[in-house]
Amino acid sequence: MYYSKKVKVGNLYIGGNHPIVVQSMTATNTMDTEATVDQIIELVDAGCEIVRITTRNKKEATNLVSIKKLLNNKGIEVPLVADVHFNPDVAEIAAKHVEKVRINPGNYYSKADDGDSEGVISDKFLSLLEICSSNDTAIRIGVNHGSLSKRILYNYGDTPLGMVESLMEFVDICDNYGFINVILSVKTSNVKFMIETNLLLVSRLQERGLSYPIHLGVTEAGSDEEGRIKSAIGIGYLLSKGIGDTIRVSLAETPVAEIPVAKLLKDYFGRESTINNQILYKEIDVSIDNQISTFPLIFTFGKSENSDFSMGDLNNFDEDGNVHQEIKILHLENRSINNDSFPIIASVLSAISFIERKPKGIYIENTNLSDDELGKISQNILQALGLRITQTEFIACPTCGRTSINLVDILKELKARTSHMAGLKLAVMGCIVNGPGEMADAHYGILGAGPNRVHLYKGKTQMIKNIPSDSAVKSLISLIKKCGDWVDPN
Ligand code: SF4
Repeated sequence: MYYSKKVKVGNLYIGGNHPIVVQSMTATNTMDTEATVDQIIELVDAGCEIVRITTRNKKEATNLVSIKKLLNNKGIEVPLVADVHFNPDVAEIAAKHVEKVRINPGNYYSKADDGDSEGVISDKFLSLLEICSSNDTAIRIGVNHGSLSKRILYNYGDTPLGMVESLMEFVDICDNYGFINVILSVKTSNVKFMIETNLLLVSRLQERGLSYPIHLGVTEAGSDEEGRIKSAIGIGYLLSKGIGDTIRVSLAETPVAEIPVAKLLKDYFGRESTINNQILYKEIDVSIDNQISTFPLIFTFGKSENSDFSMGDLNNFDEDGNVHQEIKILHLENRSINNDSFPIIASVLSAISFIERKPKGIYIENTNLSDDELGKISQNILQALGLRITQTEFIACPTCGRTSINLVDILKELKARTSHMAGLKLAVMGCIVNGPGEMADAHYGILGAGPNRVHLYKGKTQMIKNIPSDSAVKSLISLIKKCGDWVDPN
């Protein structure tokens, strides 16, 4: 359990005993005031309590005034957050107009931070603290995997410790300055890494007697059921341990689609939750052939192409004459939860079991879903936990005002044509500003390069430049074939 202190953000508090706050981010052009306001209203109507807005330059920072004014004219008081990367001057303007500014520590290192030299955090950070103090503006210091400074990478590598150290340098400065309106985040697209990093962050804060609220999210989780499951596991597992004060479910879909998932996680695992027993979960013993040594296994009630065994098969083991072994598997059984919510809650309950008790298989029962659907949910859960890889992993950003390609359609086409390549990680990222760093784990990637133009990457190397986005998937498949990594679907 982590007891955070409360931080005021506009008309609400984050942390302390206050309910978990649900947030999201607009995907509109910030200079398009009407479209941005419309999307904010849509998010608020769906239950979003804080809205973040892409703020790339001074013009966009200044336009936050018009956005706020139009919202106020329409009677909307939702706290706004300026999402600033790269330009500390932009953060300083935005901090005068909105309730919170999100900054990336990587943008506050001086040029001396070139590897093994002592890094220097620029005075610009102190200047931002001064402005935020005078304007009662909160700051989120958000470290993302893939945007660590050279010095942090040199000293700690690309590790949970590196992410936490990167954040703690800035926490120390805030602490020494006496600036307390701070919220912290460490995000990655790898769910296990995200959980591990947040647990490490909490233990470092507790060692130091610090208690800043924590923002949780899995970046670039992708879309559809697997994107929801990735986010649910990272956020839900930590909420179930009493960690997390504000959450964002990042989906490569319309932003409003994130809100029901976030609300469900808050209602089920947040600090005020009283929901339980909608899904029963326990460990059961099953008997399987002694020769089997690869785990975890997937069980369904009847036969399914997505499972290893049907429970009916198991009954035959006593009669097959083979030597058996008894294993413990996780058994989840739906009692009263609807079909949309079921995979999300089931995935968090599974994560708790697999992380803490390491069962050797999973068996999900839900009479409202087919065995194929249940087997698929189990596959998605095990893949998100990194325990068993059965399909291509897709890393896709949730889009924002920096996106200039139709990312959602590109991702849909890519998934339709390449989902069968277990072990391969493919990324679709909306911009080249943050995309290359944040898709660091991917084997191949499509990155937005400008209006309807993309670059193609193999790992961190740009392979094809500036091609039309409507041929992106076809060209990426050609590139994968040329590099010898393509496999035909069965
Ligand atoms: Fe926005 Fe670029 Fe991040 Fe995508 S990768 S969410 S476009 S900043």
